Amino acid sequence: MAYKISDACLACGACVDTCPVSTIVEDGEKYKILADKCTDCGACAGSCPVEAISQE
Ligand code: SF4
Ligand code: SF4
Repeated sequence: MAYKISDACLACGACVDTCPVSTIVEDGEKYKILADKCTDCGACAGSCPVEAISQE
């Protein structure tokens, strides 16, 4: 159940510093979560103003 960032991402950057393993990175005009480093801690999910971060 990895966390993912959806197309709703506004690239505001608010989630980046919430990740303890620094696995949220810019990806063109959006941000993405590098799944191989994500520990599924969920710390980032509540930081997104448009609820673009969810578990899949
Ligand atoms: S779930 Fe945790 S480890 Fe994964 S991207 Fe979010 S803050 Fe980082
Ligand atoms: S907080 Fe949400 S809108 Fe902002 S960069 Fe992260 S995923 Fe995108």
